[in-house]
Amino acid sequence: MPLYHHESATCSACKSHLNSQSGHAICDLQGALWEVDPDFIKIIQQNLPDGERGKLPSFVIAQLKDKGSYISDTVRIKAFRNNARTFKLCATIQ
Ligand SMILES: [Zn+2]
Repeated sequence: MPLYHHESATCSACKSHLNSQSGHAICDLQGALWEVDPDFIKIIQQNLPDGERGKLPSFVIAQLKDKGSYISDTVRIKAFRNNARTFKLCATIQ
């Protein structure tokens, strides 16, 4: 079950990426993943092989906090502030 529908205003990132593979998650400010959908896990495992299970690599969470996004050759992750402790994440295959 996806966390968000593409139509939802809570995920503005996907609207322009409806043809891409995308996945969603909620993480805390240290990069620990709290809620994830299977597509997000798949994208992370395929594109961020250094990641620990259930946690984003530190260089990724650093970029998300700094710039609100992490972009590599193969994946784009956008972070939206959810509340004081968590981000909503949207990952799409480039
Ligand atoms: Zn999205």
